[in-house]
Amino acid sequence: MENKPSAIIVGAGYTGLSAAFDLVRQGYQVQIFESEDEIGGLAGTFELQPGYRVEKFYHHWFTSDTAILGLIRELGLGDRLLYKNSDTGLYFANSVFRLASPFDLLRFTPIPLIDRVRTGLMALKARRISDWRQLESQSAEEWIIRNGGRKAYEVIWKPLLAGKFGMEASNVSAVWFWNKLKLRGSSRDTKGAESLVYFEGGFGAVTAGLRQALDNAGVKFHLNTPVLKVLSQAGQVKGVRTASVDAAADQVVVTTPLPLALELAPELPESYTAAARQIRFLGNVCLVLRLNRSLSSTYWLNVGDPSFPFVGVIEHTNFDDPAKYGGERIAYISKYLPITDRLFSMSEREFFDYAVPFIRKIFPDFSESWVNGFKLWKAKYSQPVITRHYSQLIPDEATPIKGLWIANMAQIYPEDRGTNYAVRQGRALATRILSQGR
Ligand SMILES: Cc1cc2nc3c(=O)[nH]c(=O)nc-3n(C[C@H](O)[C@H](O)[C@H](O)COP(=O)(O)OP(=O)(O)OC[C@H]3O[C@@H](n4cnc5c(N)ncnc54)[C@H](O)[C@@H]3O)c2cc1C
Repeated sequence: MENKPSAIIVGAGYTGLSAAFDLVRQGYQVQIFESEDEIGGLAGTFELQPGYRVEKFYHHWFTSDTAILGLIRELGLGDRLLYKNSDTGLYFANSVFRLASPFDLLRFTPIPLIDRVRTGLMALKARRISDWRQLESQSAEEWIIRNGGRKAYEVIWKPLLAGKFGMEASNVSAVWFWNKLKLRGSSRDTKGAESLVYFEGGFGAVTAGLRQALDNAGVKFHLNTPVLKVLSQAGQVKGVRTASVDAAADQVVVTTPLPLALELAPELPESYTAAARQIRFLGNVCLVLRLNRSLSSTYWLNVGDPSFPFVGVIEHTNFDDPAKYGGERIAYISKYLPITDRLFSMSEREFFDYAVPFIRKIFPDFSESWVNGFKLWKAKYSQPVITRHYSQLIPDEATPIKGLWIANMAQIYPEDRGTNYAVRQGRALATRILSQGR
């Protein structure tokens, strides 16, 4: 028993849980330290009403998300995967346009027919590009205007980029945009309709299944236990410090957001941290509404109106059956923003009152009497800003401190963050640790 190699994982999101899954099954003694009282990280869920849970931040998978779908099957839970067509729309100039398939795009009258065709061709072109390096020096804006035309950029893409990245929109790399087009293109059925994946019981049920497997394998969880510092000596990791203990381990895997990881290990040299510190992040505020009626028939409504302060309205119960939520309708109103934005500091009630007039602008019949309840979630590090030449900023998971590894969403590239990539990254890192030995 004493001879077993040991690992401490800091953070019980999908990266940390996935790394633990493979390390423990390959003979490691694994402990997970998590600052929150529940596991799941950004993909965490909460009890909205007694008896049912939903994600704090709306979540689904694409059919091409093979890492997480594979893990779910390995856990023996594959029969609970739900494949569904999604209904996507765009709110523009006081109207909601359906934009779920190439045919919808052809009918999208706010831009001339020629630009609709160019936009469709641009999506096809993105699918054919396999080497993202050729896009690294270009901004998304430049690439879209060149390939899809200025009109389509102004009407469709600019408001979406601004909605997601705010002041950072013009800095976003063509690689990020290319990947989004490619990803969405790869999750379609033969008629071109988008097909998405969910899980019976939601993401919380997957997390519970993973927790069960980790418990059975002997992983020790320490919830409500933030790690305060990584301990190292003479360039070798020794363990971690929490408020109550110093815990020792051969390997320490820090899966917190990147800026927090760098804070936990102040001994890391400038040569490792300097580029990584240039990566900027956006936070997210997400209002979850419990409604007694549906806002619309659209699942994913992108908001293409620059005067509207939210990136989208996601009506979860147009994706998953409302009967599973006591017949209530669940909708998310989401905003990515710098955490210095005043919206990020608003209380739950302030944010709700702020949001209501905008919701009514899109759905004129909406009234507060439709709202049975609401909850606000905030995340400080929800999206790294993928700038040009981003690859040069990404720190290696192996740090200069032997046995200390850093793994988080800022290293997902050229793809964009997501639970699928968290699983892929956590498992790949476990393989790397296993292959290099103690
Ligand atoms: C609004 C929004 C929508 C999204 N939609 C989707 C989607 O539809 N599909 C999808 O697949 N993905 C989606 N994602 C992305 C997905 O949630 C993340 O990519 C994924 O959950 C990241 O997992 P992670 O383990 O790398 O990080 P995290 O989930 O951030 O986990 C890090 C963990 O570290 C813990 N921690 C932090 N500091 C400490 C400390 N000092 N000590 C101990 N623990 C600490 C945190 O509490 C957290 O639990 C979405 C994210 C957001 C914000």
